[in-house]
Formats: sequence, C-alpha cells, structure tokens
Amino acid sequence: MCGIVGYIGKQQAAPLLIDGLRKLEYRGYDSAGVAILHDGLLQTRKRIGRIAHLAQLVHEQAAPGTLGISHTRWATHGGVTNENAHPHLDESGHLAVVHNGVIENYSSLRTQLQQQGHHFDSQTDTEVLAHLIGKAFDESKGEPTKELLMEAIRTALKQVVGTYGIAVIHTSLPNLLIGARRGSPLVLGVGKGENFLASDVSAIVNHTREVVYLKDFDIACLSPEGFEVSTVPGGESGYEIREVEFDSKAVEKGDYPHFMLKEIFEQPETIRDALRGRLSTEEATAKLGGLNMTNAELRNIERVVLTGCGTASHAAMVGEYLIEQLALLPTEVEFASEFRYRNLPLPKDALVFAISQSGETADTLAALRESQRKGHKTLGICNNVASTIARESDGGVYMHAGPEIGVAATKSFTSQCTVLTLIALLLGRIRHLSTTDGLRILEELQAIPDKVRKILSLDAQIQAIAKKYAHAQSMMFLGRQFNYPVALEGALKMKEISYIHASGHPSAELKHGIIALITPEVPSVFIAPEDTVFEKNISNIEEVKARMGPVIGIGTEGSHRLEELCDDSILIPHCPDFLSPLLTTIPLQLLAYHTAVALGCDVDKPRNLAKSVTVE
Ligand code: GLU
Repeated sequence: MCGIVGYIGKQQAAPLLIDGLRKLEYRGYDSAGVAILHDGLLQTRKRIGRIAHLAQLVHEQAAPGTLGISHTRWATHGGVTNENAHPHLDESGHLAVVHNGVIENYSSLRTQLQQQGHHFDSQTDTEVLAHLIGKAFDESKGEPTKELLMEAIRTALKQVVGTYGIAVIHTSLPNLLIGARRGSPLVLGVGKGENFLASDVSAIVNHTREVVYLKDFDIACLSPEGFEVSTVPGGESGYEIREVEFDSKAVEKGDYPHFMLKEIFEQPETIRDALRGRLSTEEATAKLGGLNMTNAELRNIERVVLTGCGTASHAAMVGEYLIEQLALLPTEVEFASEFRYRNLPLPKDALVFAISQSGETADTLAALRESQRKGHKTLGICNNVASTIARESDGGVYMHAGPEIGVAATKSFTSQCTVLTLIALLLGRIRHLSTTDGLRILEELQAIPDKVRKILSLDAQIQAIAKKYAHAQSMMFLGRQFNYPVALEGALKMKEISYIHASGHPSAELKHGIIALITPEVPSVFIAPEDTVFEKNISNIEEVKARMGPVIGIGTEGSHRLEELCDDSILIPHCPDFLSPLLTTIPLQLLAYHTAVALGCDVDKPRNLAKSVTVE
C-alpha cells in the first residue's frame, strides 16, 4: 500500500504533489509528507493524519521548489507518528527517500549502521534504506553525479531483502529524480519539460497520459527534459511508453457522498462491462480470448485452483461452486498467502487463477509466481490492465470495472463473480453442458444488470433497516451453497467499514457452536433466496427465532414465508442459484454502507485499512 508521487519540472512541486497524494489517499492514510528541493536545501513537511493536514502544514510553512517527492503512508514498521512519516533522510540530511513496501532485513542493517555511527530518527524500515543509499553515495569517490547516485542506489538495493517502490532526491543533484521498484508498483509519467513518478496513474493523469509502467528491478532516472530506464543489477531495461485510457471522472465521487456508494450503484454497468463482447449465442458459450488456451487445452485441465485475498477469496469461493456445478471440474480455493508457502500437491494439468482487483496484491502475486515456478498454467483475473499480475500471468480475463477507490471492495466482487461465471460456462460447454443449458445461462446473465438496478431501488428500505440495527455489538451472516461465500463477504463488509464484529457461516453450522452466541442483541442476516436449500435455511431461521435472535432475511420477491418469519426482510428478483451471489451481495453492501454512515464512520477510509495490499 501507500502512495508515492514525485515531480521534476518547471511548476511548483508542492501543490502538484499534494493533489496527486489526494488521488492516492485510498492506498494509505496514516500520515503524509513531502520533501522539496530548493536552493540546495531539502524542505521536509510531514504530519500524521490525512492529506488535508499535510496541505494545511504546507500552507503554513510554504515549501517552494520544482523538484520533490511525497508519500501517503500505511504503516508497516513503526507506529503512526510524525517521525515515522515519510520522506526519510540519510545520515547527512542531504538525501530524501519515500518508500512503498517492506525491508525485511532492516533490523540487522540498522544495527550495523548504528555501529558505524548512524543515528535514526524513526522506527521505520525505510529510514534504514535512506541511510544505506546515503552511505554508499557519500563513500563514492569524485564529484556527485547522476551515475554515482544511481550506483549508490543499486548498491543499497542489492543489500536489502523485501519489497520496494522508491523515489529518491539529493541536494547536490537538483536536476535528478530517481525511482526504482521491486514488488511495489511505480509508474513513470512522461511530460513536456517535466516528468513524474507515481504509485498509480490516477495521481498524474491530470498532467500526462503517456506513461511507462516500470517493471520489477527497473531503476528510472528522471530530469525535466527526459528519462532513462535501466535495471538494478545494472543492465538495459526495455520499456514502452503507453497511452493511458483513463477517464479522470472515474476517480471523482460525482454527486455521491462516498466512493463506496458510487461504486455500489455502478454495478449494473460494471457487470454489463464484464460481459460485453464475451457472450456467443451462436455457440451458447463465453468467448474469452485472453485465456490464451485452446478448447483442447482447456479440456485437459484436471483441477482448477482459485487464489486471492479478502473479497477476491470470497469471489473465488463463488467460482469454486460455479466451476464444480457448471463444468463438473474439481476446484479448490486457497488464500494466496497460504498458497505461496504451502506445498500444495497438484496434478500436472492444474489450472491456477490469481484473482486481484489491483493486480498488485503482494500475496496473490507471490502465489502466481509460485504456481508458475511449479509449471502450472497461471491466469489472472484483475481489474488493472497495467498491473504486475496482468503482465506476469500466462493469460487471463480483465474485469473492466473501472477504478475502484472505496477501500471496501464492492463492484470488483460482482465483476469477479461475473468473470468466474463466464469461465465456468466456457469450461462446462466444452465438457457436458448442452446448448440449451448454455443459452439459458447466457439469457439469465444478460438479465442480471436490470435485476441489480431493481435491488438498488430498495436503498431507502435498506437504510432504514441499517439504522435499526446499527448499534448491535455483533452480527451473524448465514447462507448455504452459493450464498455461503456471500455471507462471508457480507460479514467482511460490515466489519471493514462499521467496525461491528461480524462473522459469516454456512447456515447449518449454527447448531455446531455458533448458536451459543445468539441473543436478542445479536442480529442474524440470513441469505435465503428461494433455491434448493430454501427450506433448510427456513429451519435455521426458526432455530434463531426460537432463541429470540432478531433476523434480517434476504430472500426472493413474493417469499411470504421468509417475510413472516423474519423481523425485517429484503426481497430481490429471482435468478438461478448459481447467479444469486450477483444479486444477494448488493443488499449486504448497502446494509454495511448505511450502518457505517449511521455510526459516523469514515466509509471510504476505514480504520487501519488501505486499498491494494502491496505488502505481505
Ligand atoms: N514500510 C514502510 C513504513 O512502514 C512503508 C509502508 C508503506 O508502504 O506505506 O513506513
């Protein structure tokens, strides 16, 4: 996580950097800071809290200059304090660094440096890196030059274990901004008479649409007039200048009070976008050219593994049910963080999918690399087309959901489920699934966006329910089959943004322990559409009601039994069981959203969280 913005050019750097940080604030918001070089002096301004606090500080203590670096932090090493905020300086105070990632061996390096007389002002791993670079630079012989600073950065980076996206400036080189990456994203923005570095294009898209997505081990050296890219080990690095197709409105809230609400309401369109151009009525199947696999190769697959983290892992669980039901293909879900270290025995013809909205999730990326190392075909399902996972996977399917800024994932979940439905359909159609079944699935899929729109029209009703239960200390989310992962996702949304303790379970697990928690103060949300397990869910609701537990039911329109039994119910359009997560998840997103608003929580920037988890 964390956001980096760097600028070198003719404009005043501070306002531009702060504006860029605002666009990256979703990546981390523990503290923020800038370092601007002016007249041979480094001016650092940093402060805990939001970018607005930093903007205020820079307003009070102006920092003129046309070269600068900046950072919004999601703390990994060292508490949330002004001292730990980036940028960090080296021992001489002439070199400043901002860093995204984790230096795993920082502790031993710090001890060595202290033994050599270095003093540290913070508890961060980043300050150690700043000192290492500064030391290598100060020890180099001759006048300070770009080459010497590049060499010093290379020397330091070769000593560190871990991940980094960094931006570096030095007082003796006022025409130089250097960036390097390994495991954390970094984009170089190409301007006219100015150049940029950023963790994500949204920070610089107002200034340039020409970018170079740096690769792992790239090191870039920027001046106002141009740039060069080489590698940390010292070789050539091929790069490509790409045009960003990005609607800057997509990163604005518009008339919505929060990004999360905007993104929830975008789902009829984002689901349609995930389907666009991918449905073949002629062949009654999905067309997914990006998989880069022939039908014969896909038919040879013996097992599918779906891996991801957080919300993506819940979408993966929906995918498991989908692929098993539609393609009768053994499928399993692994948390990416477990997959990467686990020695999972898999047949040679296993197909692995790495699912990540940002395409930069550190654990998912590591799982992808581990899977490829073992020789498995590994495909990506991501939203960010320029991401590392998109680049490194053997193929995949893009979500086309547009930028997701709200930290709590919403539209990316339904887009992932849509893509997984298409994959399941394709795998099914080259196995046992008939043309008639295929056509029916296509028809039902195309009807989903309008049904989602209908559910969104229940917003006011859901808001009233949310207010009624907002003061609960804890909540249960229960569902069966396809709606078990939805229960997990509903509980995650509630936890993330309202801080109410919530847990998701298969409904039948209630009686194996969880029911002990049911009291009149603990509401249960049952996801119980009219499907093959409806009656079973009804029995479980009865069990909760018998213990005076309040129940919110998510069911199918016209489901009087559910309505009569539950304290509150939200009834949504009918759809086949395997598509129901696309619908049942919508009321749960709105329930969490309105609960968080009723409690006065900061919906788009929940406590301790940040979007795009690029650290382990
Ligand atoms: N490890 C660094 C810190 O804790 C950087 C964290 C980040 O990526 O924001 O300061």
